[in-house]
Amino acid sequence: MIRARDLYKIYRADGTEVRALDGVSLEIRRGEFVAIVGRSGAGKTTLLSLLGGLTRPTAGEIHLDGVPLQGLSDGELSRLRAEKIGFVFQSAGLLPTLTALENVLLPGIFAPRQSADPRRKAQRLLDLVGLRAKADRLPSQLSGGEQRRVALARALMNDPVLILADEPTGDLDEQTEGEVLELLGGLNAERGITLVIVTHSPAVAGRACRVLTMAGGRIVKDEPGAGA
Ligand code: ADP
Repeated sequence: MIRARDLYKIYRADGTEVRALDGVSLEIRRGEFVAIVGRSGAGKTTLLSLLGGLTRPTAGEIHLDGVPLQGLSDGELSRLRAEKIGFVFQSAGLLPTLTALENVLLPGIFAPRQSADPRRKAQRLLDLVGLRAKADRLPSQLSGGEQRRVALARALMNDPVLILADEPTGDLDEQTEGEVLELLGGLNAERGITLVIVTHSPAVAGRACRVLTMAGGRIVKDEPGAGA
């Protein structure tokens, strides 16, 4: 699903250099559930955004589902993202003036392959995350965990083959974290969606089939997780 070779990302500011990524090579197979752990500043978010084509590396190559990202224009890259990847970030990032249903529908507008009945599909996805009854609520009328579940439904709207999540349960209580994990794990197990999750949570890392540990912009450990 992902093949990355010799990735470097160097930020330059005020004459100083930060090596956010310092030579990362990595393969992730279809259907894997990978957790990326490590201290703050280790390069986890940078790696995730490079793998998802949100930022470009200073050097190195990434193949996503067989497609070399380095050869793509910005437009082609965003089309590829819309077609293949569901992003879940730490904050749910819902648009406040749209209802839950409309938020889920949003990626459908940018979908390369339009679904025949996007509204119904969005309703089915809200059903999947247990929020059918709250489809017409605004984000401000939903709890933090519910907002997160809407964001998850939104990430699924275009049938991604890959979900990239950055601290998806960061600020959730234990029970809500468990629910979100249950959903993510189910998508991985039942639909074979490849999952890559940056996390500080032992509960998340404990369910992954593989745990990568980062430090100083490198992968310093690559070991089977408890979910393997
Ligand atoms: P993590 O996700 O593991 O906390 P990050 O990938 O966010 O780590 O950051 C890795 C390093 O790169 C940190 O030292 C961070 O300060 C630096 N960094 C990240 N993004 C930028 C940026 N846009 N400009 C300058 N430095 C950055």
